[in-house]
Amino acid sequence: MIDLRSDTVTQPTEGMRQAIFTAVVGDDVYDDDPTVKELERYAAEVLNKESALFVPSGTFGNQLSILTQTRRGDEIIVGHDSHILCHEVGAAAVIAGVQLRTIESFGGRFDLDTLKAYIREDDIHYPDTGLICMENAHGNGSVMSLEDMKGIYDVAQEHHVPVHLDGARLFNAAASLGVKASEVAQYSDTVTFCLSKGLCAPVGSIVAGTESFIKKAKRNRKLMGGGLRQVGFLAAAGLVALKDMTERLVDDHDLAKYLADKLDEFEAIEVIRDRLDINMVFFKMLVDEEQFINQMLDRNIKINGIEDGEWRFVTNHDVSKDNIDYVIRTMKELL
Ligand SMILES: *Cc1c(COP(=O)(O)O)cnc(C)c1O
Repeated sequence: MIDLRSDTVTQPTEGMRQAIFTAVVGDDVYDDDPTVKELERYAAEVLNKESALFVPSGTFGNQLSILTQTRRGDEIIVGHDSHILCHEVGAAAVIAGVQLRTIESFGGRFDLDTLKAYIREDDIHYPDTGLICMENAHGNGSVMSLEDMKGIYDVAQEHHVPVHLDGARLFNAAASLGVKASEVAQYSDTVTFCLSKGLCAPVGSIVAGTESFIKKAKRNRKLMGGGLRQVGFLAAAGLVALKDMTERLVDDHDLAKYLADKLDEFEAIEVIRDRLDINMVFFKMLVDEEQFINQMLDRNIKINGIEDGEWRFVTNHDVSKDNIDYVIRTMKELL
């Protein structure tokens, strides 16, 4: 099978399987798991944050960061097309009990005057603005520049509002910008990234921030049911993900650009070129959706259906250039 649905479908590498097999583990709720400790220490170092915490998923990391930095009834500012707003089941209302104020996002960028206007003043009628959430790389495939991130962060700091960075694909953003992950993470107080997805770990994400934030987050992680026991097995794979898999993300990005060029040759396809920054190719194509998905599946290619009028193909570690050539040949035959 060639799976273009997402980079979440990646299989753990041979190195990860070996690391899992030999991992030294302990009960992490008792602080007894040396492999988790090593992952958290290493992740904090890579991000240049004081401290880090292993969590089960990216959604968990975002929601934990919101819960830990806000009070019930606070308002948090999120992009209108952010993962936190659109793809986390309304969790912020359920878990932290905050209300979401959406700001128009342009691939993660906000208009700074609008952002300033959205931060609440001190008034008996108003909710407090508890947090501003950024997303980079953005789920729409684009990457925001460091300058744009700094603009948002500076406004937040001026108004004493903390910033959380949803960096599920932080390392894709860094690879795309040609900078270190810590340079992207510097414009946030707290940050989440996924060890799974393009980095190929089977399970897990990291939350990072100040020591006092992580101390509180650890307690809230327990509250949310995320205190895991011999989780060093997952941390062992996570360490391989962080050490061996971040540099190669540029290969996924290059392959996505190659795929985009090939798709562009089809009369019936319109590739969306202006957000081709990472491993995702978005395009428009007028075909019978269900029939096309099934015909591709019959030829061993898994794809997702249309979302918001667009198709999305995602390259990843398990997809080769030969695979892409086969996908293109197959589409030529079908279209
Ligand atoms: C995937 C993703 C998440 C959530 O990650 P899960 O591990 O699937 O919960 C959060 N934010 C963004 C932008 C993502 O792409």
